[in-house]
Amino acid sequence: MATVQNYKGLPLSPYPYHSWMEHWKRHSDQWVIWCAEVHCERIALVASLVKILEKGNDNVYVVPLCKGHAVSDHIISIGEVKPVRITW
Ligand SMILES: [Zn+2]
Repeated sequence: MATVQNYKGLPLSPYPYHSWMEHWKRHSDQWVIWCAEVHCERIALVASLVKILEKGNDNVYVVPLCKGHAVSDHIISIGEVKPVRITW
């Protein structure tokens, strides 16, 4: 289970996709309906950019979250959801 925090770096564009959710759907092999936060029971309406909190990992990832967790500053645990790494 990964621990993540919303990414606050330079703005990134989801291009060529219309949204980060579309990016998520194209690159993930998972089918996710619920927010990735382990205790959250809300629907994942958006996909959010996050950092995984582990030493030496400076990559940016996208995970599906509810609207509340997508704007939260808190460190959150994600359950079975595998973050998709952004490669640009
Ligand atoms: Zn949530």
